[in-house]
Amino acid sequence: MQPIFRFAPSPNGELHLGHAFSALASYALCRQMGGRFLLRIEDIDIGRTRPEFEAAIFRDLAWLGLTWEEPVRRQSENMTAYRAALDRLAGERLIYPAFMTRGEIAAATSTPDWPRDPDGAPVYPPHDRLLSTEDVSRRVAAGEPHTLRLISDDAIAQAGILSWHEEGRGPEGESGTVTGHPEAWGDFVVARKDIPTSYHLAVVVDDADQSITHVVRGQDLFHATSAHVLLQRLLGLPTPVYHHHRLITDAVGRKLSKSDRDTSLRALRENGATPADVRAMVGLQQDVRAD
Ligand code: GLU
Repeated sequence: MQPIFRFAPSPNGELHLGHAFSALASYALCRQMGGRFLLRIEDIDIGRTRPEFEAAIFRDLAWLGLTWEEPVRRQSENMTAYRAALDRLAGERLIYPAFMTRGEIAAATSTPDWPRDPDGAPVYPPHDRLLSTEDVSRRVAAGEPHTLRLISDDAIAQAGILSWHEEGRGPEGESGTVTGHPEAWGDFVVARKDIPTSYHLAVVVDDADQSITHVVRGQDLFHATSAHVLLQRLLGLPTPVYHHHRLITDAVGRKLSKSDRDTSLRALRENGATPADVRAMVGLQQDVRAD
């Protein structure tokens, strides 16, 4: 089977050196394996997505020398597939409407020992799982805003032990066969208030729809992989090989963000940097290793 790789940026800011490293590393591994390379625009965050950022993604990646297959998939055009995945989870009674506002969550989880997920957010309180069926139906019918969350303990019990093959490294050096810990995320969101999906659900559905065999991405998403493998099991989808790579940091060791203007690829290009300079800046020479 021919390997299939992807780069999946979100058009909510300009690409920076961290994205360049991720895209170039994925592309190089893909080439080494004689694979196909796809680009996916992760634009479910309607409030933050801008067409000019999408145009900039194409321009920056082409400037770096990447080519990808057309047509490019946009998550915003794929809501039917996400809805179908949600229906399947609902059919198995593995999701529930969650009504708590940010403020209510903060108040309910303010004790110092309240568990936090790998991103540092408080694990969702059990409150909404204890509501009566009538109460839930009435609030949904009344149009009360709600997310959909996974009933994580039931889901994990159903899925059994989860693992994936890690070809890169996790933050603690995890590599080879890695055992997932989806319980760390608690009842995570599978559909946001405004859209019938979440990052975790969309990425899993799309990787499967696009037959992705190798996911190359930053170590900041290593722990998310536990949630992804859980959803893959529940939805009967294959688990790709994962390759989590080191993160490109700024001078004081912080992860780059889209608001760091000076490391944006556009700023670097306008200041005279070449694609070869970008490769050197992220420590990728001709002979590429991504970890
Ligand atoms: N869209 C995500 C981001 O820009 C990447 C998702 C992934 O590679 O799984 O951070």
